[in-house]
Amino acid sequence: MTAHDLENKTKVSAIKQTGVKPHAPRKRSLYDNVTRQFNRAADLMGLDPDIRKILGMTQNEIIVNFPVKMDDGRVKMFTGYRVQHNDVLGPYKGGLRFHPDVDIDEVRALASWMTWKSAIANIPFGGAKGGIQIDPTNYSQTEIERITRRFTFALANNIGPEYDIPAPDVNTNAKIMAWILDTYLSMQPPHERQRCIHVVTGKPVEAGGSIGREKATGQGVVFTIEEWAKDHDFDLSKATYILQGSGNVGSWVARLMNPGAKLIAVEDITGAIKTPDGINPEEMAAYVKKHGGVAGFPGSAPISHDEFMSTKCDIFIPAALENQITDTTAPMLQCRLVAEGANGPTSPEGDTILIERGIDVIPDILCNSGGVIVSYFEWLQNKRSEFWELDVVDEKLYRKITCAYAKVRETTKQYKTDWRTAAYIVALSHLEAVYKERGIFP
Ligand code: NAD
Repeated sequence: MTAHDLENKTKVSAIKQTGVKPHAPRKRSLYDNVTRQFNRAADLMGLDPDIRKILGMTQNEIIVNFPVKMDDGRVKMFTGYRVQHNDVLGPYKGGLRFHPDVDIDEVRALASWMTWKSAIANIPFGGAKGGIQIDPTNYSQTEIERITRRFTFALANNIGPEYDIPAPDVNTNAKIMAWILDTYLSMQPPHERQRCIHVVTGKPVEAGGSIGREKATGQGVVFTIEEWAKDHDFDLSKATYILQGSGNVGSWVARLMNPGAKLIAVEDITGAIKTPDGINPEEMAAYVKKHGGVAGFPGSAPISHDEFMSTKCDIFIPAALENQITDTTAPMLQCRLVAEGANGPTSPEGDTILIERGIDVIPDILCNSGGVIVSYFEWLQNKRSEFWELDVVDEKLYRKITCAYAKVRETTKQYKTDWRTAAYIVALSHLEAVYKERGIFP
């Protein structure tokens, strides 16, 4: 028997005895990342200990298991989540994600980030997030529709236009929001339906969505990069940048960046590519729509993940998934600025390395808040039965996000701290002030 066989035999007997897999690879806890970011800011600002207890936990966690009939007539069970972190500022608000990695830990983290994001942007929403643990590429469109509708039915009154308002996130889009809207309205008495159109945001414009919502997250990312460039007297028209993620956020960032800035490498689920002469964002978006990702983009060369992360550039925009900039990858980066389009792309260890290396970070809860800000505008338009023009939406978004940026910048100076911690302090100070005024029932 080899040492390897012996080790395996020991593992098997340990599983039999304890029911637990020894040394089983554990997914890095995203909620642990949030907790560490939260504690760092709470310590520095001296957050009231009672309010710290409240904000350090989620309020409601809903897990639903529901059956759906597949195209072949068989029934399959699915698990869906909705976590409501905090509603002291207003109704719970946050996206829905369809991804195989969705679990309660991930959704808790994403829900918490929504609370901080709305507080920094000063919009009257709380934080929530949800999703279904599926790989959508394994299902037909009709199956995705039935899964979405049955999930909405299972959530029932755990969502609502004045209570908890979903929106798109990874692998969900305007069409999926329209199915949620239609299902939710069908569950209401007829005389209530017209009052409920704001139960989801990020809807198609034809179904009550806001002009400018689809591009809003990318637009917000670009507005914050422009503020950073002004602060550093940096000429964006001569910038080079790399992008991780070619979906909603990534593709819009590329389309809205200063046309002089050169996109020299992109990575998504299909692989990584580089083109030193620059990638045309419109052509990339059209290619991704047709082929599902950037691999094989004409005129590009494939590169490895490590080569992508080490590409020398001015700006790196992660716009895909979490935990991409870690203790392993942060030392590879060759950029001046990380602008976090994605939620949670940097782990606390990665953060420490970026700070040590003097790489600036526009943190997710500020950088990608354009999505929830324009979701708020959509919600307001629905409540007032109004349709705003694009220039009105863009102007209001610009004012909100640049005001949030200025508040965070001021706080970095006041507390002599990094941008992420400062962003948390802005959020936590706002939430603390509200709790202090309202008190705790009873
Ligand atoms: P999306 O589904 O439209 O795009 C996701 C992108 O990530 C795709 O290009 C996909 O290929 C890529 N990707 C997936 N797995 C990958 C991997 N292992 N390596 C590299 N790339 C991978 O999703 P989205 O809406 O663009 O969201 C992207 C990020 O932005 C997420 O973190 C999301 O939470 C965040 N965000 C989205 C919004 C919004 O309005 N959609 C708002 C705020 C934050």
